[in-house]
Amino acid sequence: MRDVIIIGSGPAGWTAAIYTARAGLNPLLIASSVEAGGELMKTTEVENYPGFPEGLMGPDLMANFQAQAERFGTETLLDDVVEVDLRGDVKIVKTGGGKTFEAKTVILATGAAYRELGLPREKELSGHGVSWCATCDGFFFRQKTIAVVGGGDSAMEEANFLTRFADKVYLIHRRDSFKASKIMADRALNNPKIEVIWNSEVAELHGEMKLSGVTLRNTVDGSTSELEIEGLFIAVGNDPRVWLVEDQVELTAEKFIKVEGRSSKTTLPGVFAAGDVIDPTYRQAITAAASGCVAALDAEHYLNDH
Ligand code: NAP
Repeated sequence: MRDVIIIGSGPAGWTAAIYTARAGLNPLLIASSVEAGGELMKTTEVENYPGFPEGLMGPDLMANFQAQAERFGTETLLDDVVEVDLRGDVKIVKTGGGKTFEAKTVILATGAAYRELGLPREKELSGHGVSWCATCDGFFFRQKTIAVVGGGDSAMEEANFLTRFADKVYLIHRRDSFKASKIMADRALNNPKIEVIWNSEVAELHGEMKLSGVTLRNTVDGSTSELEIEGLFIAVGNDPRVWLVEDQVELTAEKFIKVEGRSSKTTLPGVFAAGDVIDPTYRQAITAAASGCVAALDAEHYLNDH
């Protein structure tokens, strides 16, 4: 039986791995078969992670995290956790690859998943003009007219990044002011290739095999208008990934995993949670990393006491 299994490979998961590995607990980190590295794999330049004054690319930061964790003996598994039973003293973790593991403690660092707009043809057109990842798909929109939906930091970042490829980027936001930080918002507002469409939401997606345009609805007067675009990048936030454990640990009213005070302790003994899956507010790489550290220390204390 293992001492610690960490589920998730964003900043929270890798930091928990670094700390538990250095504590001699030989953690197993299950990193997901397709989305290893978490949200930062889909981002470009990370400018606000302390210790890197010149900034660095999101995937490079994640590669550093992994190298640091593995240097101290973390075992990494590229597989998806499909089922867990965390209720007993022995925690059971099963993967899509058919493996079953037992552990004394589990750290949940499953992060958050991109939010969809909930439009009828959204899934069908995903990969055919509709995307959630500018760094993955931006290249396909050279010299095209495209749009980004959202008013947070992600939308600003995506819109700015996409101007490297597209001739024109509309930024569609449902209100008349951005939620994004001032520095990110100003960058978008000052970019000549970006045009903001305020007080508007996407009401319909058009196009047969691929996206050809959208219908916009004005959120103030309800009027509609058509916008011809070949790409639509959705950046409207994300929801905590809790489906694996929602019937076993208590969740908050907002459906994040509930933890005790400033700790990472969930409602199940020996089960700890860290990063975006517990955080409705801050959701930064650095806060997720710090929260992974807390979970590692909590797991270590639990193992000492039991
Ligand atoms: P967010 O801060 O939650 O913003 C989501 C945005 O999407 C809001 O403007 C929201 O509108 C809008 N929205 C939500 N649901 C919508 C819907 N159904 N239709 C249309 N618009 C909708 O999410 P985020 O931008 O992904 O950022 C998440 C976290 O990561 C934040 O803490 C952010 O600071 C952080 N982040 C940081 C950086 C950076 O510092 N470099 C980069 C990216 C992300 P309202 O404004 O009306 O609510």
